[in-house]
Amino acid sequence: MFLTKDQEIIKRGYQPYPKIINPTITFLNSMEKLFNLEYNKKKNQVSRLKISDALFYSEKFLTAYYKLHKVRYIQKSNSSKKIYIEQEISPLQLPIFLKSSDDLFNGELLIHIPKNQEYPLMFQGIILNKQITELTSGSYVHEITHSQLDSVKESIRYYQNSEILSIFNELLHDYLLDKNERILRVQDSRRIYEIFTCAQELFQYHKEKIHKSRRDLLEDTLYVSSGVKAYHLFSLFYFGNDAVKYHIINAIQQIFDGKLTVEDLLDEYEIKLNNISIKKMEKYFTR
Ligand SMILES: [Zn+2]
Repeated sequence: MFLTKDQEIIKRGYQPYPKIINPTITFLNSMEKLFNLEYNKKKNQVSRLKISDALFYSEKFLTAYYKLHKVRYIQKSNSSKKIYIEQEISPLQLPIFLKSSDDLFNGELLIHIPKNQEYPLMFQGIILNKQITELTSGSYVHEITHSQLDSVKESIRYYQNSEILSIFNELLHDYLLDKNERILRVQDSRRIYEIFTCAQELFQYHKEKIHKSRRDLLEDTLYVSSGVKAYHLFSLFYFGNDAVKYHIINAIQQIFDGKLTVEDLLDEYEIKLNNISIKKMEKYFTR
């Protein structure tokens, strides 16, 4: 069954028909400045890793910071007769499929949306890039974070916020993996590139009325909105004292547990797409 992006958004339980962002020229210029700043820095290298090591670092981080809940795993049998096996398992036990891709950051959580009932969503596994590097570890953390959010009804109310905590945890993991921030800076350059290019697409769409599919526009909206808010939250963590750090992690745990929504956390710290977020990003990227 092929779903349009809007149908998928409704099925996933987000508020229907999100608006496409219309970035201001000031916003676009600020993101371009941060992108150029990052681009002109000395380029950092990442090393190859064995998959067992990459996953070990991810699990070490995830279990030290969070208490993960089990998720529903569905295994589709390969035979022509359709047999589905459903089980409750730790997200860390979801099967991993390695795929060749030019994108070293590549990761994907394979979701099965049941036909008649919407929740709980089921998972079939996690795709990671065949080339295992220090970045794979963060990609895996990113996907496990999605599994914790997607298995709880209404943990996220708005589609455009659905990448925030996955990006946040990926940044946090990369920050902890190498205290010299070598891996974090590689991640930063990738994310600021993503935010800037998606914002540019949206800007051109509104200004020059070029044709773009609603699916693409919604995805651009998602990565601009979630990317900026994730950096706002991460800068609060990065520059915050121990009490602030503890509070943020505790709030994320409560979102995983279904006791808070991502939007509650955003409201608490007044995280929105506005000048304050831009200022927080500028402070972080010029650290
Ligand atoms: Zn994601």
